[in-house]
Amino acid sequence: MIYEMPVPSKCPQCGDPLVNEFYEDKTNGSFLLKRCNKRLDHQFQCNLYEDAKFLTSATISLSMNPLVRAAWNFKKGYLEVAKGTIEDLIKSGEDPTRLPFFVPDFSNIKELVKKVKLYTTFS
Ligand SMILES: [Zn+2]
Repeated sequence: MIYEMPVPSKCPQCGDPLVNEFYEDKTNGSFLLKRCNKRLDHQFQCNLYEDAKFLTSATISLSMNPLVRAAWNFKKGYLEVAKGTIEDLIKSGEDPTRLPFFVPDFSNIKELVKKVKLYTTFS
């Protein structure tokens, strides 16, 4: 674990309660996906494994049209930026752009989006 990111109950961007979905991962066990994906202007999602106290990863939208996402992995310590949905990424076979890891401040998403975009410009 690189960083112990607390688990949010509400979307940090709009304050809506996050919708919980359980998934089974054959290698790592079951995990909980929490997300806000009903809004047109942003997406937020995060996940954690069963019995974990902290997040494995979290994803925000940098832009919605076209969709660009930034995803932090707190276990392995990386930050990735990718265009489109995960399904799009699998289809295109493109690798996400990896950026230097930093601890995100989800309480100020506007600033966070700016910061990631700046990193993207220099990568
Ligand atoms: Zn939201």
